[in-house]
Amino acid sequence: MISKSSFVLGNQCQKSFWFKHNRYPETNPSDEAAQERLAAGDEVGNISKMLFPGGEEVPYIKGKHKDMFDITMEKISEGAKKLYEASFYINDIFIRVDLMNKTKDGWDVYEVKSSTSVKDHHRLDASLQWHVLKQIPKIKLNRLYVIVLNNKYEKDSEIIPHDFFKKEDITDIANENEPVIKQNIISLKEISSSKDKPEVEIGSHCNKPHGCVYLDECWPNNKNEINSVFTLYRLNINKKINLYRSGIDTFEKILDISSYSNIQKKQIQAYKTKTPIIDKNIVNDFINKVKYPISYFDFETFTDAVPIYIGQRPHMQMPFQYSLHIQNHKDEKLKIDENHYEFIANHHEDPRRSIAESMIENFPAEGTIMAYNQSFEKKCIESLANHCPDLADALLSFNERFIDLIIPFRGGGYYESNFKGSFSIKKVLPALCPDNKELDYNELDISNGGIASSAYKKMRDQSIQESEKTREKLFEYCRLDTYAMYAIYEKLLGL
Ligand code: SF4
Repeated sequence: MISKSSFVLGNQCQKSFWFKHNRYPETNPSDEAAQERLAAGDEVGNISKMLFPGGEEVPYIKGKHKDMFDITMEKISEGAKKLYEASFYINDIFIRVDLMNKTKDGWDVYEVKSSTSVKDHHRLDASLQWHVLKQIPKIKLNRLYVIVLNNKYEKDSEIIPHDFFKKEDITDIANENEPVIKQNIISLKEISSSKDKPEVEIGSHCNKPHGCVYLDECWPNNKNEINSVFTLYRLNINKKINLYRSGIDTFEKILDISSYSNIQKKQIQAYKTKTPIIDKNIVNDFINKVKYPISYFDFETFTDAVPIYIGQRPHMQMPFQYSLHIQNHKDEKLKIDENHYEFIANHHEDPRRSIAESMIENFPAEGTIMAYNQSFEKKCIESLANHCPDLADALLSFNERFIDLIIPFRGGGYYESNFKGSFSIKKVLPALCPDNKELDYNELDISNGGIASSAYKKMRDQSIQESEKTREKLFEYCRLDTYAMYAIYEKLLGL
């Protein structure tokens, strides 16, 4: 049987479809963020039903596709005019349609997505629904829509569904897609009955539109090694794959580096010479811009597909936590819990005002504010200023004092092989400060921003004791982010 999700998977990659069909264990299971997206989809789906209130829901009965189809047709025969999760099972294809609404011209069909824009794979996905529905003579179809979230929508006291969603009419696209859909169904049916997996080369499709859960089945084992061409800094994925296919999978096999970018050349050179490549002028230019006291600063944020606070928009970054280490002068040596300010907002309230007030209270009146990838922190501050106009002047004045610690690295001032073609703090820190447990993210229960965001949101449903534990873990994580900046900056000074 082909379901809507397996059809979408098969369109991304037939080999991945075959693995799934044959129940291969996933070698690269989806992370917490992907699970959260699924949960958000359910929440959005429930709200979308309010677009057509009073509809009838077709229950999901595991493994009983024919029964669900019969229930749907029965409801239609009995005169239902609005259906949620209407289910159809035709020619071994099973689909569930998010919303159907009967108009005087026939049924309007809606596919609901929790993103803020309609993507090509959404259109293809909805086209499958259209193709299946067209085969049922009893159903007169009118139009097909994909519904997504309106990213301009700001929640007021209640969610207003007609403002919260926006829709795109894709009827014509679905009709044009018909031959492709038919052909894909034939191919996928053949693949599902084949004992041999289809030959599919690795490519950019392995991560688009969704990360494949079988990457390790196909990608080379050495893809994350320090000398792998797959780690080459900002090299287009197709170029990496071309190198790999032509037998050049490691830096040793690259004979002529003249066509590579400046950073890529440093990367290859650092590996071959086994020494960091340092440009002291670039590092010094950066250091000369820094003014004490230095405020090492970092936000953590969460997003909600369905806003819960007034003025919140779908998927808007909501800062809920910050960490701030202050170094008053060059010779002051910091410990992780010294000169440190931290804040986590009450998880049952809109965090924005309380975090803004705490920042204003704790930031020094002068000196550099150092962040890693400052654009994120600065955008968050702008959004706090919008939310709290009475605090806007104080907040926006912080933005004039930022400096970005990634600049000397990204600008070519320092490259070390263990960066593996990335200047993220998670790569730079262990390379510059190896074998230091105090500076090791792997020692923490919460070890990245995505996990931090999920943990904070889970606190909404936790007991007081559980949420206290989570808060401690969140503090540990964010504290390390700013202490890591201090440690990295000290290394640059040491050069
Ligand atoms: S890793 Fe790429 S080629 Fe292999 S199954 Fe996944 S998507 Fe297909």
